[in-house]
Amino acid sequence: MNRSKSRTGIWVVALSTLLASCGFLHGAFAPSASGPGAVTLTPPAADQAGTVLVATTGAAPAGTSPRATTAPPGDPFRDALMDAFKSFRRLQEGKNADYIPVLAQVDPSLFGLALVTVQGAVYEIGSARNEFSIQSVSKPFTVARVIDTMGADAVDNRIGVNATGQKFDSILALDLGKNMPADKDRVRPAGNPLVNAGAIATVDLLAAAAGMDKWTTILGNMSAFAGRVLQVNDEIYRSESETNINNRAIVNLLKNDEVIQGDPMQALDLYTRQCSISVSARDLAVMGATLANGGRNPVTNVQVVAPATTARVLAILATAGLYETTGDWLYKVGVPAKSGVAGGIMAVVPGRFAVASFSPPLDPAGNSVRGQRAIEVVVQHLGGNVFASQPAVRAQRLGADKEPTLLPTGPVRELTAAGR
Ligand code: GLN
Repeated sequence: MNRSKSRTGIWVVALSTLLASCGFLHGAFAPSASGPGAVTLTPPAADQAGTVLVATTGAAPAGTSPRATTAPPGDPFRDALMDAFKSFRRLQEGKNADYIPVLAQVDPSLFGLALVTVQGAVYEIGSARNEFSIQSVSKPFTVARVIDTMGADAVDNRIGVNATGQKFDSILALDLGKNMPADKDRVRPAGNPLVNAGAIATVDLLAAAAGMDKWTTILGNMSAFAGRVLQVNDEIYRSESETNINNRAIVNLLKNDEVIQGDPMQALDLYTRQCSISVSARDLAVMGATLANGGRNPVTNVQVVAPATTARVLAILATAGLYETTGDWLYKVGVPAKSGVAGGIMAVVPGRFAVASFSPPLDPAGNSVRGQRAIEVVVQHLGGNVFASQPAVRAQRLGADKEPTLLPTGPVRELTAAGR
């Protein structure tokens, strides 16, 4: 693979054309640097720092860039973001990842939040447009492409979709995966597409879209989710390529077990490049909102993957989005989410919105400390827990003057037929 900058440049220039023509974009138009719905990431003016900006990008007139304005108090999305930002602005727990050397140098005080609704409204506060490497938050998007083109069983059969319960780069998990009682008849050592082994196997499994090579497919797919042409951060890519010895061990074991069927080093290189794609919290929120919106990017209106694909991807996020602490996360916050070691987190409330955070210091599992706390507050504020419910109002329809009676048990349809 050609690793030069100029080659990357050519891919990027070619992408806007490719996004329009390639088979996996079903929408009326593809994002381009200046087209309708395009998102330009200019930093907010100094006097707007610390306020929540809102832009309804989907509604921007053709050929113009949407202008972000200050969101008024009383707007629930604005209030949720503002509250979360203020609550944790000064939180300093956690530590930047340092096993990828350049990540240790990123300013740990950076903190940004973004929220995108399925209607295409974009809210942001703090360093929401500060770019960082996507890292593991890339994993669900490549698996989405594989599911969309090859079917859900392809991923389940070759990789698996159960939680490994181990760290994201675990070698032990590969061996444990072979001895799972439920998997006696099929060997699935990679375990899950959201740990390193499974994500690299996903890249191996991915078929290049017609007329494209694998890398162009990966970057084009990720760009379609983000609604703008994304690029690789070459410094991150080099730093990780030079130090990813554990991942080299993983790909060799996966090749040995015939989980990776192509060239293992090529799969690893593509994966490392994928993890080095540069995004902002705002991008992650748009990408998550595309998953929340049945696979249609709410900002560009491009149908990126089928609705059925997003349901599968969100289920995988619920199994392992925050690795071995995913159970804690679901128990506390109740939404599918994905973290990355550069400090990004994306959380999705299906049918409503996605919220994303950027804050580099991590907990021992590799999840942004401040991001988790802030997203928890936003989700609570907006009633986003997907497991939460309220008792149905049916009993009240009996009339305010009557005591609520116990409804007879039995199928709901019978009650409806009885005219309740
Ligand atoms: N590129 C990183 C790695 O392979 C991704 C890990 C992560 O974000 N958890 O280790």
